[in-house]
Amino acid sequence: MTTFRDLGLSPMILQALEEIGFETPTPIQSKTIPHLINSGNDIIALAQTGTGKTAAFSLPVIHQLDENDSKVQALILCPTRELAIQVAKDISVFLKYLKKFSVLPVYGGESITNQIRGIKKNPQIVVGTPGRVNDMIKRRILKVDSIKWLILDEADEMLNMGFKEELDEVLETMPEEKQVLLFSATMDKQIRRIANNYMRKPEDISVGEKNKGADNVEHFYYIVHEKDRYQALRRIADANMDIHGIVFCRTRRETQLVADKLIQDNYSAEAIHGEISQSQRTNVMNKFREKKIQLLVATDVAARGIDVDKLTHVINYNLPESSEAYVHRSGRTGRAHNKGVSLIILNMREKYKIKHLENKIGKSFEQGKIPTGDDICENQLFALVEKILKIEVNEAQIGKYLDLINKKFENMDREELIKKMVSMEFNRFLEYYKNSVDLNSHVGKERETRDKSSILFARLKISIGLDLGVNVKEIFGFLNEQKELKNVEIGKIDIKKNHTILEVDQNFKDKVIECFSNADINGTPIKVDCLETGVTSTRNPSKKGGGRRPSGSYNSSNNRRHSNQRRSRKKRY
Ligand code: AMP
Repeated sequence: MTTFRDLGLSPMILQALEEIGFETPTPIQSKTIPHLINSGNDIIALAQTGTGKTAAFSLPVIHQLDENDSKVQALILCPTRELAIQVAKDISVFLKYLKKFSVLPVYGGESITNQIRGIKKNPQIVVGTPGRVNDMIKRRILKVDSIKWLILDEADEMLNMGFKEELDEVLETMPEEKQVLLFSATMDKQIRRIANNYMRKPEDISVGEKNKGADNVEHFYYIVHEKDRYQALRRIADANMDIHGIVFCRTRRETQLVADKLIQDNYSAEAIHGEISQSQRTNVMNKFREKKIQLLVATDVAARGIDVDKLTHVINYNLPESSEAYVHRSGRTGRAHNKGVSLIILNMREKYKIKHLENKIGKSFEQGKIPTGDDICENQLFALVEKILKIEVNEAQIGKYLDLINKKFENMDREELIKKMVSMEFNRFLEYYKNSVDLNSHVGKERETRDKSSILFARLKISIGLDLGVNVKEIFGFLNEQKELKNVEIGKIDIKKNHTILEVDQNFKDKVIECFSNADINGTPIKVDCLETGVTSTRNPSKKGGGRRPSGSYNSSNNRRHSNQRRSRKKRY
C-alpha cells in the first residue's frame, strides 16, 4: 500500500499528516502528489468533493514552497467563501511544522481592510473567491508576478456561479511561467475552454469517469404520489433515526416550506437558501457541523461549498435540473473513506428521468420502498429499547432520589412500568402512524402504460420519407446510435412520402434535432422542424412501432445495404 512517505513528501509535512490521522493517500492524492512534485506540467483533475483533493493539490505545493521568496507563490481560487476558509484552514494544519510559511483566505462580503492587512504579512499561499481576488489584483493589493502555482478548485462550480469573467481576468494577469491545476467534479465545454485558453498541454488525471458520482455512494429512488412527497420524507427520516444529511429542494420557497414543516413536526431541521443572511447561515452551518441539526434543507446554490464530513444521507426532495447538479448533490455524502446514500423522491411522471440519470452518471439506481407505518414503529420501538439497555446510569447523582422514585412506583408491576416508559417516548410515532397508508406508487403494467402516456412529447417534422427508402427500423437505428438518445421515449412515427413525423420526449427535442440536422441522406441535408411541444403521444399503445425502441435494428441487412451506399455522407443517418 502506498504511504504519504512513498509519495516523496517532506518529514515536516508527514508529521502534520500523522497527527491529523491521514494514514494512506486517497486515489486522487496518490495520482496528483508525485506528478506535481516531479513534473511542471499543468493538470486537469476530475475529482468530486470529498475525495481528498485539498490535500492532493496543497501538499505538493507546500512541499515545494521557496522559503527565500516572501511573495505569494500559490493562488487558489474557490467558488465560495466557505470553501476558501475551509481550504485555508486545511492548509494551515498541513503547515503546522513549517512555521516560515502561511496561508491567507480572502473573500467578498467582508471588509477588505483586514484582508489587506493579511496580505501585508506576506503569506506564500492565498486562497480566495474569484471576485475578491480579481478586485485585489486590480487594486494592486495582491501581486501575482511571483505565482508559481495557480489552482482552480471546483472550477465547474465557479463557472456555474457566474464567475466566468472574473476567472478570465485573473487567468489573464498570471505570469507566463506557472503551473495551472484545475480541479472539477464535472467536465464540460466551458472547462475545456479554460484548458485550451490558459493551460499548457494539460494532463488529465481522473479518479472516476466523466460526471460520475462518488464510488462509495449508493443511489436509491422512491416513487410516490406528488401529494405524498413530504410524508415520504418524514418516513425516510423516521426510518433512519441517526440521519445526518442534506435535503435538497429546487427553490428557496420550497426549501423554507419543507424546513418549516419539519420543524413544526418536531424534526431537528433548518433551512439555508439565498434569502438567509450570512450570519444566520454561519450559525446554521455551525450547528449542522456539530450535529445539533440532523437535517439541513437547502437549495443547490446555498449548499455549494458545504464541507461537512460523514453525512449519512443526501435526500433529493426533488430532482435537480441537470445530472451535473445531481453529481454535486450526491457528492456531499460518501466523502473521504466513508459510505453514503443518496435518495431521490419522485412522482410517477418523473420515473423516466432515472434512466436518463443512470446513463449520464454511469451508476445504477435501485428502487427503494418507503417504509410502512408499522415498519417504522417497530424500528423505532426496538431502537428505543436498545437505547434504554445501553444508557449509562449516573449512580452517584440518581442514588439520592431512588427511594422516592421506588415509593412512587410501588404499586406498579414491571410490565406496566416498561409499557409506560416506552409509551412516553413512543406515543408520538404511534399517534402519527396509527392510520398510515402505503405511500409507494405501485408500478404495475397498467400503470406503466398510463405513466408513458403522461410524458410530454415534441412533434418533429423531418425532411426524409418513403421516397428515400426510410423505414421505422432505420429511424430507431439512427436514434439508438446516438449516445445521449439511447433511452429516449419515442411516441408515434409516421413516415409519409417525403417527410416523417416523429414524436420524442420533449426534454430531448433539441438533441434529436441536432443529431438529424448534422446528418444527411445521400448528400441531401436533413431538415427538422418542431411542429409542437407539450403534447401527449398520438401513438396507439397496442400498435407496433412506438414506445420503447427495438435495439440493434440498425444492423438489419436492409440497413447495411443503405449504409454502404451512403458511405460518402457527413454522418451516417
Ligand atoms: P476534501 O475532498 O479535500 O474536501 O477532503 C474531504 C475530507 O477527507 C476532509 O475532511 C479531509 O480531512 C479528509 N481526508 C483527505 N485526505 C485524507 C486521507 N488521506 N486520509 C483521511 N482523511 C482524508
